[in-house]
Amino acid sequence: MIQPLQVTAVPAFADNYLWLIHDHQHAAVVDPGDAAPIEAALAAMHLKLAAILLTHHHGDHAGGVADLLKHWQVPVFGPAREKIAGISHPLVEGDSVALPALGLQLAVLDVPGHTAGHIAYVARQQHWLFCGDTLFAGGCGRLFEGTPAQMTDSLAKLAALPGDTLVYCAHEYTVSNLRFAVAAEPGNADVAQRLAKAMAARERGEATVPSTIGLEKATNPFLRYREPGIVQTLKAEGRLQQEEPVAAFAALREWKNSYR
Ligand SMILES: [Zn+2]
Repeated sequence: MIQPLQVTAVPAFADNYLWLIHDHQHAAVVDPGDAAPIEAALAAMHLKLAAILLTHHHGDHAGGVADLLKHWQVPVFGPAREKIAGISHPLVEGDSVALPALGLQLAVLDVPGHTAGHIAYVARQQHWLFCGDTLFAGGCGRLFEGTPAQMTDSLAKLAALPGDTLVYCAHEYTVSNLRFAVAAEPGNADVAQRLAKAMAARERGEATVPSTIGLEKATNPFLRYREPGIVQTLKAEGRLQQEEPVAAFAALREWKNSYR
């Protein structure tokens, strides 16, 4: 019997989520930074690994690939513009990934900014987004290798996806992101409400992800840097001289880097 596809979070390290896409028989793993929790999850759910998908080269996303390949002979999809050992299928925007074992098709987007060659995977039929460290619930990744202009373009591609798209990001950063979002846009009641909900979820030990593109557009300052409320805050904080969207985004990202 064919069962519908599911996405399961596998927690790893301090605050990473590794994602398993599975149909109760086969699984694809997104960003296996550590092989051990993935092997444990596969064994517990009696799943056969069918593919590995990577968004970028950071160790907490790709560090488990070599160990998984010792046990599983599977294709490794990943960014063509980054050097990651083990990639068998290098990808750029416009490519699509077919996973016949799961009956799943994924589209590839180039989303540079956090790293220079970062990619994201979109399951258009299911309305799922696997975006690594580009878009977070209530925030976005740090700009380690890219420019603010690249990151705003990348985030715009993600924001253009349907509002009900589930955002499977790679870290549980939501509460600290939303604390910053409240400071950046104090007049947005949806942000304050989302922070309260996220804090309650964490107290119950629940994950706050996936979120949705619609919720991110309503509450994530890194998608809302054009909003007058945010521009006004940046000016009041003395962080924005010229009123220009990419400058506002850059000022916001700078502020978040040191926000406690
Ligand atoms: Zn990263």
